[in-house]
Amino acid sequence: MSLARQRLLIIGGSYAGSELASHARANGYCEDIVIVSEEAELPYHRPPLSKSYLKEPAEEGTPLRAAAFYSANNIELELGVRVLQLDPATNAAVLSNGARITFDVLALTVGARPRELTCAGSDLKNVYYLRSIADARALRAAAAEAENVVVIGAGFIGLEIASVLVQQHKQVTVIEAEDRVLARVVAPEVSEFFSTQHAHHGVKLLTSRSVHSLVGERGIVRRVILDDGTSIDADTVIVGIGSVPNLELSQQLGLMSRNGIAVDSRSRTSQANVFAAGDCVSYVGPYNSSGIRLESVQNAIDQSRVAGAVIGGADRAYESIPWFWSDQYNLKLQIVGLPAGATESVTRPGTTSDISVFHFRGDACICIESVNRPREHMYARKLLPRGVVTKKQLQDVDFDISALNKL
Ligand SMILES: Cc1cc2nc3c(=O)[nH]c(=O)nc-3n(C[C@H](O)[C@H](O)[C@H](O)COP(=O)(O)OP(=O)(O)OC[C@H]3O[C@@H](n4cnc5c(N)ncnc54)[C@H](O)[C@@H]3O)c2cc1C
Repeated sequence: MSLARQRLLIIGGSYAGSELASHARANGYCEDIVIVSEEAELPYHRPPLSKSYLKEPAEEGTPLRAAAFYSANNIELELGVRVLQLDPATNAAVLSNGARITFDVLALTVGARPRELTCAGSDLKNVYYLRSIADARALRAAAAEAENVVVIGAGFIGLEIASVLVQQHKQVTVIEAEDRVLARVVAPEVSEFFSTQHAHHGVKLLTSRSVHSLVGERGIVRRVILDDGTSIDADTVIVGIGSVPNLELSQQLGLMSRNGIAVDSRSRTSQANVFAAGDCVSYVGPYNSSGIRLESVQNAIDQSRVAGAVIGGADRAYESIPWFWSDQYNLKLQIVGLPAGATESVTRPGTTSDISVFHFRGDACICIESVNRPREHMYARKLLPRGVVTKKQLQDVDFDISALNKL
């Protein structure tokens, strides 16, 4: 009889990796747990990188958990090491430091990376992406010297960065290929709301425009040329055109994927001993009937909690309602639910600094976007799964959603 201990190997040490390890332990997994992560830092909070971190020269990363948590729970951390290769025949991972580590259970929590700009000049200096704390350090240092900043992409990250830098008195231009900002994630009314806010603060927004090339001098970016020939001065360019899931390792194992590693409601991949969670995953759930890849802290945490619990022996399914947030200026956008499939929307306008939009499929409210209405958002998170909000109530501007909480 073999007395060899078994091992759960987790690749990727961020929200999903850290949470998965902690929940596997809490649910009774008593074998070895090793997290291997490419970044040298303890798992840390990523959202501040495009928000407070850029504002505060003294701010450093905030760990998700103290080092003592991992040692107390007997979770081994291998930081600053990349997994290069997985060998399905021997259940082994080959690491960038030359080590080889075997596993019985594997969890892929490898996240996503920024989609790269591919036009001429995209390899010039002073062209930045933002995913890691190392990226944020480089961007913060560059921003201190910058005068003319061009942000390519008006998604959450691009607009959050624009809002910080324009308040630092930089000339900020945002280029967006779609005809409105945040087009992939919010209703037209909310796009309009944020466009007005950015314009008010002095950001120049160019929608329905795409980048033709970047032009440099002595290897450093100097101008951004648009498809219509417009030339914009730039000493700093920030690219925020979405992300792509890190699928290389799952492909080596031949796992099923659909714009993300395909998992079921228990975070199981198409291979019995392999789990996956977070930004690298596509799943079908109660709030989405075809596979979706969500990129949010809520998703990474809740999904990896399920994975950890299942690895620990519990029977748990991922059924949480999705929610997201974004901070720009003094505005907090919060979204609960997913708008895909909505047939009608009801807008509840407010002042210049608040608004909400409720999306319905038939009579069912499926998603609520709100700005600076935290109370409404918190009630919505509780009420949406219970389906108790009606169009008629919302069309009444005086209706207080908190009244429904008593139902
Ligand atoms: C700037 C920024 C701002 C954001 N703001 C918000 C926000 O306001 N609200 C919100 O909900 N979400 C926000 N997000 C998204 C949120 O941070 C992600 O959804 C979340 O980090 C996903 O966690 P994860 O653990 O799945 O993956 P990740 O955080 O991407 O972590 C994956 C880890 O795996 C490592 N890794 C990858 N491949 C390997 C390998 N082969 N070997 C070893 N290690 C590997 C990576 O280096 C990384 O450390 C933001 C993201 C960014 C970048």
